[in-house]
Amino acid sequence: MTCPQCGKTNVRKRKVRLSAEAKGDRVEFPMRAFACRGCGFTMVDGKDMPEYMRLAADAYRTRHGLLTSEEIRARRKALRMSQAKFAEHLGVGVASVKRWEMGKIQARSSDRRIRLLSGPPPALAQSAGSQDAGSSADEPEGAGENLPEVVARP
Ligand SMILES: [Zn+2]
Repeated sequence: MTCPQCGKTNVRKRKVRLSAEAKGDRVEFPMRAFACRGCGFTMVDGKDMPEYMRLAADAYRTRHGLLTSEEIRARRKALRMSQAKFAEHLGVGVASVKRWEMGKIQARSSDRRIRLLSGPPPALAQSAGSQDAGSSADEPEGAGENLPEVVARP
C-alpha cells in the first residue's frame, strides 16, 4: 500500500506506538496498525477503530486508577453474570455496562460501585482451590468460611 504521506509503498501492518486523546489526556499504547517505515506515518483503518478507542480508554483508565474494559468484563464473568444481570446488580442501565466493556470510560463513582459490588479481583477468587467431593469432610469446622465464593471454573 502506498504511503499517503511520503508516497513510498512500504506501508504495512505492524506493532507501533500510537497515541490518542482521552478526556483531554494524551495517552500512548502499543497496537498493530498500518505504519510507514520511511516517514513514520501511521494509520488505523475503520475496522480497527473500536480496538483503538478501547486501548486509548484503557491507557487512560490505567493512568487514573480506573478499571479497564477487560477488568470490568473479568469481574462480571467471575460473578457469572450476563451484561444485563450485572447492570441490574450494579443498579445501572445495561447500555452502560456494554459501553464500559467496549471502551467508554466510566465515571469514578461508577468505578467505585463496580469494585464494591463485584467482590475481590478475579485473580484472588481463582485461587480458592479445588473442591473435590472428599476434601470438605476432612476440614475442621469453620475452615474457609471467610474465603470468597469459588466462582471461576473454566
Ligand atoms: Zn511514508
